[in-house]
Amino acid sequence: MTPAQARRLAVEASHALAAAGQGDMVWGHAAVRDPDGRGIWIKAPGWGLEEVRDDRLQLVSYEAEVLIGDGTPHKECHIHLEVLRAHPQAHCSVHTHAESAIAFAALDVPLLPLSHEGALFGGEDVPRFRETGGLVSTPELGEKLATALGEAPAALMPKHGLVAAGSTAAAAVMHAVLLDSACAIQLRARAAGQAVGHSDAAEARAKRAQCWPGSQLEAGYRYLVRKAASTLAAGGSSSRPA
Ligand SMILES: [Zn+2]
Repeated sequence: MTPAQARRLAVEASHALAAAGQGDMVWGHAAVRDPDGRGIWIKAPGWGLEEVRDDRLQLVSYEAEVLIGDGTPHKECHIHLEVLRAHPQAHCSVHTHAESAIAFAALDVPLLPLSHEGALFGGEDVPRFRETGGLVSTPELGEKLATALGEAPAALMPKHGLVAAGSTAAAAVMHAVLLDSACAIQLRARAAGQAVGHSDAAEARAKRAQCWPGSQLEAGYRYLVRKAASTLAAGGSSSRPA
């Protein structure tokens, strides 16, 4: 991968997250590891996910200094810097304030494999970062978040949002999208009654392999990228509906 390709992915991943409804005005971001080892490509503060363009990106060093681009970095750039530093196999990370993830995290109950999306965790509960519900604005908090995430595809950040990572931009974005969808489905089921019809651990593991190989994550991601492109071409916003 070249730096130009990493920049393109940082734009594309941001648009895909917006198309999935994970925008929260100008907050939340996707970051792509710089292939030359200089840091991460991430949007500059002040732009919504659907507004990200190549000239609105920054290259932020692992010391949180802007090497290319204008202004200061996002206060929460430490999320991505530390997640990608701690997980060399990951090339992209996502942090959003996805609404269903926040609402579900407030219940503090296990995430169940009620659906294909819920099987992403293979029958295990989703990890949670409990150190703070405030901004992850220091390297120390970023490190603790990276530890909480571990090797999982995504983690809840109660009172705040979610974090996700992947070996590709497609995987990282889809991990965030699938977690939020799984949370939304469980919230709906729970609102209607006691959710009892879910996969056991063996079925959940099998479904994770069946439903969410890299090719499926890529296919879902490409759909979101196309959806974002058509929305942008129509002059609309694809961030969270009112
Ligand atoms: Zn945040």
